[in-house]
Amino acid sequence: MTIPASCALPENQPHLHARAIPTQDLQALFELCNERYFDGYLVPSSGFRLRFSRSVKLSGCFHYCLASSEDWGIDISQRLKDHPFALLSTMVHEMIHMLAHQLFRETGSREYLDEQALPGQPFTNRGHGAFFMACLERLNQRFAELRITIKSTFGDSLYDLSKISRERLLLISIRDASIAGASNPEQSSSKGMIYRLDPKAELDWDRLAKTAEELHGSREIRVLSVAGHRAEGFPVLRRDNGARRNMRLRSLRNFSAKVMMLLDAPQTDELREAPRSPSLKTAV
Ligand SMILES: [Zn+2]
Repeated sequence: MTIPASCALPENQPHLHARAIPTQDLQALFELCNERYFDGYLVPSSGFRLRFSRSVKLSGCFHYCLASSEDWGIDISQRLKDHPFALLSTMVHEMIHMLAHQLFRETGSREYLDEQALPGQPFTNRGHGAFFMACLERLNQRFAELRITIKSTFGDSLYDLSKISRERLLLISIRDASIAGASNPEQSSSKGMIYRLDPKAELDWDRLAKTAEELHGSREIRVLSVAGHRAEGFPVLRRDNGARRNMRLRSLRNFSAKVMMLLDAPQTDELREAPRSPSLKTAV
């Protein structure tokens, strides 16, 4: 298998400035990447299209025809618009897939597609094997602005954290039945679950406690305001602070450690319920 010329560009390329990355125009970004990293080698199939997606699970996605291996397009998560270097590396990741399919169409060699592990060769999963890794490593080495990875992590060093909005997290402690009678409350609440509040939700403590009880039989809740990237991966509640209908009921085994980590993280604030007005108390 030969590595195409596009992966053998001269060393010491000057660093690309963030301002030179067209963050709002995927066509311009594609053309820049094709010239700079692939020596203009990529020729899109007819009908190829680029678009921003609303996906938060996938930062990028390459679409192609299973039968012909023609490329259909590349989707990039719209939330990368605020993060030029994450956007750039994501686009190049997808373009390596595109290159693999183009080389397969041109040569008939399935090796480019990284469909399976080869002895002694790196293989993470389908599409990310020896060919993909060879391109990734060469490009990362030669271009200081690139940090292409197999799997991207939202909020890693390629991201501008000041552009990620803060999020609120609902922490629910779940008492373990076997030690429910333990005198030490820390001991009796080692399990729990964390949910993300809808960004537009009002902070309704009564409703959140009710949701916690409905889901986990516990009204022991805390609410944290955290740097946005720390809220990745937690299920999101409805805008009225209720549970979504299709929410899979699960708890976190490392709940206590996770809570400690969140509390210790910079920019984390614990939100407290405002005390009830005295008139209400005296009325009881
Ligand atoms: Zn990939």
